[in-house]
Amino acid sequence: MSSLDAFAAEKLQDLEARSLRRRLVETERGADSRAVRRGADGSRRTLISFCCNDYLNLSQNPAVKQAMVQAALEFGAGAGASRLVTGTYPLVTALEERLARLKKTEAAVVFGSGYLTNLGVIPSLAGSRDLILVDELAHACLYGGAQLAGAKVVVFRHNDVDHAADLLAGMRADHPRALLLTDGVFSMDGDLAPLEALTRVARAHDAWLMTDDAHGIGVLGEGRGSTAAQIMEGRDIDVPLQMGTLSKAVGVYGGYLCASQSVVDFVKTRARSFIYTTALPPPCVAACLAALDIIEDDAELRDRPLANARLFASLVGLAAPHSTIIPLVLGDPERTLAASRLLEEHGFLVSAIRPPSVPEGTARLRFTFTAAHKEEDIKRLAELVHDKIMIRDAP
Ligand SMILES: *Cc1c(COP(=O)(O)O)cnc(C)c1O
Repeated sequence: MSSLDAFAAEKLQDLEARSLRRRLVETERGADSRAVRRGADGSRRTLISFCCNDYLNLSQNPAVKQAMVQAALEFGAGAGASRLVTGTYPLVTALEERLARLKKTEAAVVFGSGYLTNLGVIPSLAGSRDLILVDELAHACLYGGAQLAGAKVVVFRHNDVDHAADLLAGMRADHPRALLLTDGVFSMDGDLAPLEALTRVARAHDAWLMTDDAHGIGVLGEGRGSTAAQIMEGRDIDVPLQMGTLSKAVGVYGGYLCASQSVVDFVKTRARSFIYTTALPPPCVAACLAALDIIEDDAELRDRPLANARLFASLVGLAAPHSTIIPLVLGDPERTLAASRLLEEHGFLVSAIRPPSVPEGTARLRFTFTAAHKEEDIKRLAELVHDKIMIRDAP
């Protein structure tokens, strides 16, 4: 065995022993949140999925799919070049204008994905002499961007604004620029960032507040996201850097930053994950535009995922959620896997999230709710979770 293969095999064994090895399972998505999965024995099982981020089911929407097909026929399957060469075609400009309009910012720039957005934006704005504060539960790609920036990266306790303020008070003066990074909706916990308080801290210390709103756009704040949702409650909020993904509620693929015109123009000439990569394919961009049409027009659809999450929470006796994501923290990875398997035996697909995706000791079932879920399925799931997992496993 080569040293390379021996290295990989040994690492895998170690992960296996700790129940932390990840395995890919082929899944085909169908109507009504159905997912067809292939078991180890080759059998196929149809499950109702509660781990899909396609919150509005727009990836399956006929108008969105039609826009994709039409654009492929008209403009081709791929963009053929990076944005700064010949990859800035009219549809992509239209998408950037649409995103800016939706988020009520001066401008927007789209990237290949949400992950690439953070890897590009953060190092464009902060360098080795600068300070970056990150919420401890922020998404991996905010950390990825912060690391790439080479800045002094400091973690503040989850949603602990006083901690962030203390850190800034102690360190801000030693750095020319400071960024304050947080998820708008936390992807593994479903809670929201306290944006009004963070705005206050950012203002006090001249730090630039950036939110990752991957789970907010399309479902919160009339589809405008978690910042808009909190502004609509009358809060005084200023988030000059709002990024998100086109791959969740928008149902397609891609990422974006919404910001002022000057910031967007600067990022377009600086972000390496924008410059040195091919533009999004026209079918993808056309589908995003069609999806955004629906998001702007269909309030009933936008409200459904959160209503479904709230129904589930009330049925199992959890606090009313602020987003489409509900965690049920069980702690131990093995116990979490067993709970996920139990639900699967009853026809439900609910992911077991384990470290390092979440902190040690907080392995959990993570439920996501979409517009496609049926009330009777949510009720059946809630009954199972309540009777077989929460009750049985109670300490
Ligand atoms: C999914 C996710 C991303 C990554 O977006 P992609 O477009 O899938 O790369 C970024 N941030 C958060 C919080 C996410 O949940």
